[in-house]
Amino acid sequence: MKPASFRHHAPTTIDEAVTLLAQLAPQDGRVLAGGQSLVPTMAFRLARPAHLIDINGIKALDRIAVDGGRLAIGACVRHAAFHRPVVDGPLGALLGKVVRHIAHYPIRNRGTFCGSIANADPASEWCTVAAALDAEMVARSARGSRVIAAKDFFAGIMTTALAEDELLTEVRLPLLPAGTRTGFCEFSRRAGDFAIAMALATYRVEGGRIAEPRVAVGGAEPHARRIADAEQALAGKAPGAETFAAAAERAATAIDPMEDVHNSAQYRRDLVRAMVRRALEQAAA
Ligand SMILES: Cc1cc2nc3c(=O)[nH]c(=O)nc-3n(C[C@H](O)[C@H](O)[C@H](O)COP(=O)(O)OP(=O)(O)OC[C@H]3O[C@@H](n4cnc5c(N)ncnc54)[C@H](O)[C@@H]3O)c2cc1C
Repeated sequence: MKPASFRHHAPTTIDEAVTLLAQLAPQDGRVLAGGQSLVPTMAFRLARPAHLIDINGIKALDRIAVDGGRLAIGACVRHAAFHRPVVDGPLGALLGKVVRHIAHYPIRNRGTFCGSIANADPASEWCTVAAALDAEMVARSARGSRVIAAKDFFAGIMTTALAEDELLTEVRLPLLPAGTRTGFCEFSRRAGDFAIAMALATYRVEGGRIAEPRVAVGGAEPHARRIADAEQALAGKAPGAETFAAAAERAATAIDPMEDVHNSAQYRRDLVRAMVRRALEQAAA
């Protein structure tokens, strides 16, 4: 099938884009970034936007920079940018580890980091990264600019705190201190498919004990989130199989898994237990 007809708008500045959004969002206008989620749904006529505000010509959005201890990722930065470390240290290495799990190479060449965050698929790897690291989302509209914390941004399945006239201009991730250990693990039935469950873990080891643990789970619930129970099970403990198994058990108990025709809630719970344990083991290796 071909998409229903729409008007294509090609702003070249952020101001132009948010002016267009203010006018056209109430008339079913949508942002077009990499098009790797929006265009397939238009081709199936599951989405019929009347206007597309194509941000690909806005040079100011094609920017990755370190600002004040944070990595700022602009709205036109593609997944593929992370194939090589974009920043020295544990954060660049973590992003390089995660990106390989996203879809297939051609999709990674076109799809954007911020598009994934705005789209908020429960099984988006970047949403799990954003939740784990307490990312900041920068939203611009004709009304002004605001910064939204990850814990307030993700609201449910493909639902975020963004208003219809807001453009997500960048996402900011904190740089991870030297010595931070990271692990990421996901399970999907076929390589390149959306995962059924995933886990991301980071921590440091100080005096033989786990410090500042972060554990986030994606794919299992309507949106990715940090699992405080699992983090409590790690803090101050010696890293090792017993500690990791206890934290994984706490994560499996804490979640309220989704169910679908292929995956029962119990199956997702079991997967989360395995993914959290493996992410923690990977971080320790
Ligand atoms: C076969 C296939 C497999 C895939 N597998 C995975 C996978 O394993 N993991 C994964 O995470 N993703 C996967 N994807 C999705 C892919 O990663 C998309 O690139 C991503 O979800 C959306 O980014 P995009 O830039 O393509 O956004 P688009 O498709 O252009 O937009 C998606 C939605 O977000 C909105 N939007 C986009 N950018 C902004 C912005 N800056 N501000 C406000 N709203 C915005 C759009 O209006 C639209 O509603 C897959 C896609 C396909 C086709």
